[in-house]
Amino acid sequence: MTEPTIFEMSSPGRRGVKMPVSDVPEVALPKGFERQELHFPEISELEAVRHFTRLSQLNHAIDTGFYPLGSCTMKYNPKINEVTTRLSGFANTHPLQPEDTVQGNLYLMYQLQEMLAEIGGFAGTTLQPAAGAHGELVGALMIHAYHKDRGEHQRVRMLIPDSAHGTNPATSAMVGFDIVPLATDARGNVDLGHLKSLVDDRLAGLMLTNPNTLGLFDENVEEVIKIVHDAGGLVYGDGANMNAILGVTQPGKIGFDILHYNLHKTFSTPHGGGGPGSGPVVVAERLLDFLPDPVVGIIEEGDDENPPLYGLVTPAKTIGRIKAFHGHFGIHVRAFTYISMLGAIGLRNAAEKAVLNANYMQEKLKGTYTLPYDRSCMHEFVLEGFWDDVPGIQALDIAKRLIDYGIHPPTNYFPLIVKEALMIEPTETENLETLDRFVEVMLKIAEEARTQPELLKNAPHNAPIKRADELKAAKELILCCYPSEEM
Ligand SMILES: *Cc1c(COP(=O)(O)O)cnc(C)c1O
Repeated sequence: MTEPTIFEMSSPGRRGVKMPVSDVPEVALPKGFERQELHFPEISELEAVRHFTRLSQLNHAIDTGFYPLGSCTMKYNPKINEVTTRLSGFANTHPLQPEDTVQGNLYLMYQLQEMLAEIGGFAGTTLQPAAGAHGELVGALMIHAYHKDRGEHQRVRMLIPDSAHGTNPATSAMVGFDIVPLATDARGNVDLGHLKSLVDDRLAGLMLTNPNTLGLFDENVEEVIKIVHDAGGLVYGDGANMNAILGVTQPGKIGFDILHYNLHKTFSTPHGGGGPGSGPVVVAERLLDFLPDPVVGIIEEGDDENPPLYGLVTPAKTIGRIKAFHGHFGIHVRAFTYISMLGAIGLRNAAEKAVLNANYMQEKLKGTYTLPYDRSCMHEFVLEGFWDDVPGIQALDIAKRLIDYGIHPPTNYFPLIVKEALMIEPTETENLETLDRFVEVMLKIAEEARTQPELLKNAPHNAPIKRADELKAAKELILCCYPSEEM
């Protein structure tokens, strides 16, 4: 029996809330604003609670099951983060309040700027970007501003490895750079020969993800950076995979000029379902002046009696404001809490466990599934989701079958350089039993692929929503959530 939709539950006159008597005079809406066709459901509070609770249970979540979605770092988000974020002094302040009334908030932002700079080995931080992709855009804008400031207007080419996340070329293109794809070699590193053939005085920079999306640390990263620097380019680091190297190495010390973090990935904000995110960008000394406006600074040094006075400051050659107010402050509080709770040793411990967990699973699975780049991995690894002797089974079928076992599928069909890719990231917060169960299920699915392939082809069997007809969904888009006559 299918549950009624919230529209079917509707009955004229039922109410879930009682509106208080208005204390301002009633004004008629301007003509055209009133939309009769909206059909708001009329239901009681109990029905609303049941409806939304039931909906929430249809979703897979990190709080309900294993979520090895590669590159997304679906680690456990400690509940203490939610407590600190809801403290009234953080939750009930307004970004336009006078600075002297929000010193605690500014202190937290200043400290987080310092922590993120320190973790990455950089000189300064902006907390404004709304997510990783937005951080990339900010980084690309700063690279553009840096070359322009030096009069090097001919630097229009951005090198991007073929393993990169799609947001790398997308954001560089938005800034106006010409995107030049860079090949990966047989060991999964940047192809040095190809890199050397691409650098000249038109080079603006390289966007490098390290560890890359194959879960591999580039063995020649210092040489790669040197080649780009020698040609006058800057190196942007996509820091989505920082979870693998926290407290172990610092991209800024290796030579990266800019890096974004995904606070929602590495520093534990819930982010299934698309947000909210936060993508702070950290920069080396020579880019400090170009940071977005404003950053949080110390306006007046403190002494034994008085704390310092914090305020908003404008970097000298700023690329300007790139986000309303100061970014996603609630996520800054979560990241600050998380980093403070773990401390330096805890962060390193998290990275080491993330890497250990991934290597454990890679070793157990690589005999049954093909591992195209066979090296010890960092915090994630990429398998091929097909077998030559099992025609008709694809990565998608394996991913869908995992849902039947209560496990969120790995990232699939990315990175593009692996055929039928299954990108698996266990994170540090999962225990040995969970890793073993995942391995067991993956081995069972490999066996099912041979003995009962239709089990995979028609999966998922016991999920609330069966496999979508993706072709029909793409061709006959219905973006309206209201019941219409035709449906
Ligand atoms: C997640 C991710 C991004 C984009 O980050 P968002 O916060 O989703 O905008 C970029 N690069 C890599 C490698 C990622 O995993």
